[in-house]
Amino acid sequence: MSADLGHAARSIIDPELADRVLAQIDQDAVIDFLQGLVRIPSVHEPGDTREAVTYCADPLRTAGFATRFEQIDEVKPNLIAEYGDESSGPTVMFNAHVDVVPTGELSAWKYDPWGAEIADGRVYGRGAGDDKASVTAQVMAAIALARSGVPQFGRLIVNEVADEEIGGVAGAKWLAESGILKPDFAIIGEQTMNRVNVGEKGGAGQTIVVLGRAAHGALPWEGANAIEGMAEILVALRRELWPKLDGRTHPYFHHSSASPNLISGGVKNNVVADRCELFVDRRLVPGETVTGTREEIRAIAERVIAGMPGLSVTVEPRWMGLEASLTPDDHPLVRSMVGANEYLGYDTTISGFSMGTDGRFFSQQGVPTIIYGPGDPKLAHIPNEWVGIDEVMAATRAYALTGLSLLSGLQADGDL
Ligand SMILES: [Zn+2]
Repeated sequence: MSADLGHAARSIIDPELADRVLAQIDQDAVIDFLQGLVRIPSVHEPGDTREAVTYCADPLRTAGFATRFEQIDEVKPNLIAEYGDESSGPTVMFNAHVDVVPTGELSAWKYDPWGAEIADGRVYGRGAGDDKASVTAQVMAAIALARSGVPQFGRLIVNEVADEEIGGVAGAKWLAESGILKPDFAIIGEQTMNRVNVGEKGGAGQTIVVLGRAAHGALPWEGANAIEGMAEILVALRRELWPKLDGRTHPYFHHSSASPNLISGGVKNNVVADRCELFVDRRLVPGETVTGTREEIRAIAERVIAGMPGLSVTVEPRWMGLEASLTPDDHPLVRSMVGANEYLGYDTTISGFSMGTDGRFFSQQGVPTIIYGPGDPKLAHIPNEWVGIDEVMAATRAYALTGLSLLSGLQADGDL
């Protein structure tokens, strides 16, 4: 389930330089920043990030970063803050998202979702973990690096974005695909409980549509019922495909999976249904392909429907889909981040992220990408979301030392 490369990576961090950087990290300042950010309700809809990215930009600018906002949506600016010289070494990018999901039923909250209250060593609030803890740790780590005065070879970019929770169209997807951001290394802040995640699962959702023939509900033999056809397909998928997916494993991820998450069909209580639509959420492990995924669902659906006169079926992707991404364990980015965890005495386990992140857009463009951040993904999107103060501090230190290591000037010969 894991690989431990911590020891091999240890030598990259110079203790004297590390001390100088870590001395710039102050717990009160970090947690104050997080609380202030949680109190800005950058929530969907409309996912307005104007106040949140300005809040992040101000202290970075004070610390010497050149800051700007890039956007294609008036209310969804993305922050790009840069420090250092790209001609003197690699470009390292920290990325996380400032948009948050809605609170849901307020009566389910014990704490004000926009209050950022502290209790039992935790900060509570919508977005406290997902993803404002990562944003905070990245911003504060970057400021610590700049303020430390440690020589930097290369450029550090802090990129805090809009729109992650609704697919990144005005955020990371656009920044990556347009070429506005093409770093040499990308560290995506999401809830990995401060473990290094070297990739994420792929996604290839499929929409199955069964078409039949309408008839009076009292004369069903005159029609062909699309709902019945879909029911047979779903049973066949559960019996034949799901067990296969359970067997497709990878040491860093949960196994391959499929979940029928949306269904609709029929027109009226007394009409035989002439259409039924099912959406299957497919998540892929490394080795599975987007087209192979569609074909195996299609083969089962077509075989089932071939035995049901009057019905037809199509299987189409809901979007183009993406295969799983994976940065090799021995890549300098992975070794540097694991090395930072090792140096700090944290967990050096390597694993993968089973949910989607903005990292997929950068890895699709060939950018080596890892995912790392404070918080537990199980607490995201639920009432009483929280993050531990200790975790946020740990992530701040680890990001800072990873930046130090990648921008130390020791990367050129690839000898870590
Ligand atoms: Zn998130």
